[in-house]
Amino acid sequence: MSAIPTQHLTEPGLRERYHQRALEHQRPLCIMTMAFTVAAFLCMVAARELVDGPAAPLAYRLLCALVLALLVLAIPGTTSILRFGAIGVVYMQVLTGGLVLNAAGVTQPLLWLLPGLVVIPICAAPLWLTPAHFVTGSALFYAAAIALLLGHAHAHDVNAAVWTWVIVIGAPSSAVFHFSFYHFRRNHFLLESQLAQLAATDPLTGLQNRRAFVKHAELRLDQLAPDARISAIFLDIDSFKSLNDRFGHAAGDHVLFRVAQALREEVAQQHSVSRIGGEEFAVLLDDGLGGALRLAERLRAAIAMIERPDGHLTASFGVAEYRRGESFMVLLDRADEALLRAKHSGRNRVCAERALPFDALQAPFADVFARSTADAEAGTGASADAARYRWENVCLISHFQPLYSLSHQKQVGFEALLRGEHDDGTLVPPVVMFAPKPSRDEGALDRASHAVHLDNARRALPADAWLFLNILPATFIADGYADQLTKIVRAAGLEPERVILEILESHGGSVDDMSRAAALYRQHGFLIAVDDFGAGQSNLDRLLRIRPDIVKLDGELIRATTHRTEQPILPKLVSLLHQAGMLVVVEGVETAEELILAVESNVDFAQGYLLGRPASALAPPGSVHRQIDDAFDVIAQGRAHQHALFESEVEPYRLELRRAADALLAGVVMADALATLASFERTISCFILDDTGRQIGHEVPGPAWREDAASLQPVANPRDARWDHRPYFRNAVLLPGQALASDPYLSLASGGPCIAVTMAEQLAVGRCVIGAELDWSARGLPWPATE
Ligand code: GH3
Ligand code: MG
Ligand code: MG
Repeated sequence: MSAIPTQHLTEPGLRERYHQRALEHQRPLCIMTMAFTVAAFLCMVAARELVDGPAAPLAYRLLCALVLALLVLAIPGTTSILRFGAIGVVYMQVLTGGLVLNAAGVTQPLLWLLPGLVVIPICAAPLWLTPAHFVTGSALFYAAAIALLLGHAHAHDVNAAVWTWVIVIGAPSSAVFHFSFYHFRRNHFLLESQLAQLAATDPLTGLQNRRAFVKHAELRLDQLAPDARISAIFLDIDSFKSLNDRFGHAAGDHVLFRVAQALREEVAQQHSVSRIGGEEFAVLLDDGLGGALRLAERLRAAIAMIERPDGHLTASFGVAEYRRGESFMVLLDRADEALLRAKHSGRNRVCAERALPFDALQAPFADVFARSTADAEAGTGASADAARYRWENVCLISHFQPLYSLSHQKQVGFEALLRGEHDDGTLVPPVVMFAPKPSRDEGALDRASHAVHLDNARRALPADAWLFLNILPATFIADGYADQLTKIVRAAGLEPERVILEILESHGGSVDDMSRAAALYRQHGFLIAVDDFGAGQSNLDRLLRIRPDIVKLDGELIRATTHRTEQPILPKLVSLLHQAGMLVVVEGVETAEELILAVESNVDFAQGYLLGRPASALAPPGSVHRQIDDAFDVIAQGRAHQHALFESEVEPYRLELRRAADALLAGVVMADALATLASFERTISCFILDDTGRQIGHEVPGPAWREDAASLQPVANPRDARWDHRPYFRNAVLLPGQALASDPYLSLASGGPCIAVTMAEQLAVGRCVIGAELDWSARGLPWPATE
C-alpha cells in the first residue's frame, strides 16, 4: 500500500528545486575558483609590468580586475539561477578580455594566453548550474578565444596547434567535468529528496507523518499574515481496537488506508493532512473555526460511508482555531481536548474547542453596560428596551418565567431563559439554541447568556425578586468565573445575594469540583440551586455534597406515583429534602391538579405554564395568587374528606381488633380470638408481639396472605424478627387500650403496601401488642391525609 513513488526530474517543480539546490551547493566553490582566478590575473598583470615595451594602459587591466572582483562579491547574494549563469558568462568574457589586454605588446602573446585559455573553462565549471548555462557560456568563451587566436599574426601551424590544444584539452575536460558532475549531483539530489520524503511520510497511508506535519505547521504559523486564520482538526477513529481484535490487523490497516483516502479527497490541496499516529489523523487548514467545523462535519460524513466488517466506521473530531502568539502544540492540545469531549459525549461527532478565557469574552459586553448606564442617566426611554446581542446568526434575548412562593402566594423570583431571535422576529427555541451542535461552543454561549440576562434583568427585575440563572457545570467550576460573574452582577446594578445559580443537571461534571465551587460562590453571596433533580444524572450523593440552598425538581416528579397504588411520591421526597435543609421548587406545573399536589406536598416554590409562561417582559401576577389560594382550599376540604374515607375503611378492622383483644383478655386462645379478624378481606396476617416487639406464638394468616411472595422469601417469616421499631408498635404502646391505624408502609409478608391496625393490652403473659397487617395495595383505596 506504499504510496511513495520513485522520483524523476521530470516531475513538476523538481528540476527547479534541483537547480536551486545546486546553486546552494556550488556557490562556495564558485566564490573560491573565481577569487583564485582574480588573484591569478593580478599576478599576470604584475608580471606584465616587468616586461619592457609598449603595453595597454594599466588602468584598463586593473579595471578588468575590479569588475572580476565585483562579480565575485555578487555571488553570495544571488538566488536566481539565471543571474548566476549571467555572472558566469560575464566573468569569462571579462577575464578573457583582460588577459588579451595584458598580453598586448609582448613578443610571444600565446605564451601569456595559453594557460589562461585552458584553465578558464575548468575554473568556470561550477558556475554552470544547468547544461544550458554550460553550452551558452562555453560557446561564447570559445568564440572569443578562437577570434583572439586567429587574430594574432603568427605562423598558421602555431595558431592551429594552440587552437587545437585549447579545444582538445579545454572543451572535453570542461564538458566531462560539467556533465558528470551534473549527473552525480542530480542522483544525489533525487536520493536525498526521496529520503526526505520517506522520513516525512507515513508508509501505510502515504500521508504526512507527525514530525513533518508539525514542522510544516510551525513554518506556516511563523509566516502567517496578520489577518490570516488557521485551524486544526484532530480526529480519532472510534472503537478501532475492536476492529483489530475481531478482524485482524490487516483489516485495521485497510481501514486506515481508506480513511486516509477519504481525507485526501475531501481536504483541498492547500491544507495539510497527516496521520499523527495509530488511528489518529490531523488536518491544518487556512480557515477560521466555522470553516474548520464545516470541513470536520464533511469528513465525519465521509468516514461514516466507509464500511467495516461489522457495520460502518465512525470517528470523533476536535476542532480549534489558532490564537496569535500560541505555539502549534498548544493549538493541537486544544483540538485534542475537544476530541476527548467528542469521545465522552458519545463518539461520531464534532466538538469545538472550549471558549476563549472569560476576559476575552467579556469585552463585547462591557460597552453595553456602559451604554445602559448612560441611557439611564440621560433619562431616555432606551433603557427600557431589552438588550440585544448578536450571536452567530441570531440575536440573544432574555425571557423571564416567574416563580411563586406557594405559602406567600406571590412572585418571588424569575428564571432567565435564553432565546435566539432571527432578524425577521422568529424565535429559535432553547432546545435548538443549546443543542450540542459542533459549531457551537456551549461554554461561550453560557457565559454570554449570563451577561445578556443580567443586563436585561437590571431593567426589568423588581427590587425584591431573585434572579435564577442557569449555569453549565463546566462554567460553574471554571477558574476565576466566580469573580467574573460577581463583577458582571455588580456592573448590572445587582447584588450576588439576589442571584440564584441553577447548576444544570444534565451535563455531568466532577462532584468534588462542584462542591468546592459552590462554597466559593456562596462566599461571594450567590445562592446555589441544583436544576432538574430527578432527571438525567441526578443522585443524592451529588446533592448532599453540593449542598444547594434550593433543589429544583424535574416536572416529571410531580406526576410520578408509587408502583401499583399510584400514590404520589412527591410529598415524601419534599420532606426528605427539607430534612436535608434544602428548599424545594417544582417546575412544570401545568394543571390545577399539579398545583394542588405541589401545595399538598409542602413544596416551597412552584413554576410552570399554569403560573406564568416565559416572556420577554415580566408578567404581572394576574390571578395566580387566586389559583394558589384555591389549591389551598381544595386541599383543606380534601384532607377532611380523605380522613373520613380512610377512617370508614379501617373502622371495621379496628372494631374487630378491640373485640379480639377482649376475647384474649377473657382467656380465649389466640387462634380463636383472632379468627374473625383473620377472615376479613384485606387481612394479611394477625399477630401478637411481646413487650420487646417479638412475636408470640404463630401468626394467623388471612385471605391477603401471599404464599407466593417468593422474592421476599428470606424475610417472609415474621417469627424471626423484632418489630418494636415500627411506628404501629410504638404508637400502640403510647396509647394503650386504643385501636390505631398506621400510615401505609411496605409489607415484608406481601411485598406490597399495607397498613397495620394495632392495640396494646395487658394480657396474662404481660404487656402485648395485638395487631393485623392489612393489604393496602388495591388501587382506589383511600390513603390517610398527609400531615
Ligand atoms: P476510541 O473509540 O475510544 O478511540 O477507542 P479505540 O479502540 O479506537 O481506541 P484505542 O486507543 O483503545 O485503540 C487504538 C488501537 O489502534 C490500538 C492499536 O492496536 C491500534 N493501532 C494503532 N496503530 C495501528 C496500525 O497501524 N494498524 C492497525 N491495524 N492498528 C493500529
Ligand atoms: Mg486512539
Ligand atoms: Mg480510537
